[in-house]
Amino acid sequence: MSIQEAQVSRADFDQVMVPNYAPAGFVPVRGAGSRLWDQSGRELIDLSGGIAVNGLGHCHPKLVAALTAQANKLWHVSNVFTNEPALRLARKLTEATFAERVFFSNSGAEANEAALKLARKVASDRFGADKHEIISTLNSFHGRTVFTVNVGGQPKYSEGFGPRPAGISHVPYNDLAAMEQAISDRTCAVILEPIQGESGVLPAQQAYLEGVRALCDKYDALLIFDEVQSGMGRSGKLFAHELYGITPDIMTTAKSLGGGFPISAMLTSKAHAEHLSVGTHGTTFGGNPLACAVGEAVLDIINTPEVLNGVVEKGEYLREKLRELGEKYSLFELVRGKGLLVGAVLNQQYKGKAGALMAAAERADLLVLIAGPDVVRFAPSLVIEQVDLDEGLARFERAIKEFVAQQA
Ligand SMILES: *Cc1c(COP(=O)(O)O)cnc(C)c1O
Repeated sequence: MSIQEAQVSRADFDQVMVPNYAPAGFVPVRGAGSRLWDQSGRELIDLSGGIAVNGLGHCHPKLVAALTAQANKLWHVSNVFTNEPALRLARKLTEATFAERVFFSNSGAEANEAALKLARKVASDRFGADKHEIISTLNSFHGRTVFTVNVGGQPKYSEGFGPRPAGISHVPYNDLAAMEQAISDRTCAVILEPIQGESGVLPAQQAYLEGVRALCDKYDALLIFDEVQSGMGRSGKLFAHELYGITPDIMTTAKSLGGGFPISAMLTSKAHAEHLSVGTHGTTFGGNPLACAVGEAVLDIINTPEVLNGVVEKGEYLREKLRELGEKYSLFELVRGKGLLVGAVLNQQYKGKAGALMAAAERADLLVLIAGPDVVRFAPSLVIEQVDLDEGLARFERAIKEFVAQQA
């Protein structure tokens, strides 16, 4: 029997996979738009978007076309050569953002790794080895490599993996005084998510980003915005920092950039980019033609007023409906977020129960996410159809009824 013919099921996971994940009991096999089907043919509404990755839903016809067209032309050439899709996507990203130079990699963590290495290199070249300190925020998430997981502000993720890399500190998010206290001439970079995603969908305050920008300028520290989750239209702007009018020195993006195909990018100015001269950094798969061809199609679709305005409207609608449900069932303390990155914060009575509500949603044939123990997170397709959004909300109400009855 070939591997394709062999029957596999969720039970096989525990037999063959490293147990670092605990996937759901069903196995999705097909997706279209905001709907997903499992092995048994059960249909689910997807408001989770593969953790903010499927920005254009499942199997968007234009992405399928871009991927298959490229698959019939050229898959990989290595960075010993360049390729057309990479250059086209980089051109479009620079035209659409503050940035003048792009480095491609394959995951959010790798893009952040590149950003942090660049910041250290710029400081080392310009000011010497002492200027290497990185300031991050508590509860932030920047990836799972040893470096990025230690830059992230959730110690539970970095414990047990040996000595921590030096020169990293954490301050409370949205606390300008704490940042002012921590920053110094030894600081080479401050890294922030404009909207903290994993830890609860918490947007930065306007005055905070303005203040941090000014502090970075004062101390010659580079400001890195991690837009791995908040970028590529998710906030209703192409990148969330545009909502604030605050420009970083370096930005990273990933998740929605490939719409489900692995790709990430680190973007910066020409002057900073020059510090990563030939041979200083690299990755085998970064800038892969397949990934970049899909990324270009994603950007072409998302970076249009129709799609971005749609994200704003759908996000407002979703938050409004969630607020109504929250009131009806005395469930949420508040509903927050930007665009289609939405967090519903459980009130005191239900603190710590976001996972149970997510499980109830799945029983109601609906996929949602959590962001920490107290927040139910929604990151649907940016082009979700109104009927799918409404059907998703109807299923969420069914889930809430079951959840509330269960908790009573
Ligand atoms: C998901 C995420 C990452 C890590 O991305 P990976 O592709 O899992 O490495 C980094 N930063 C933020 C803000 C994220 O949401």
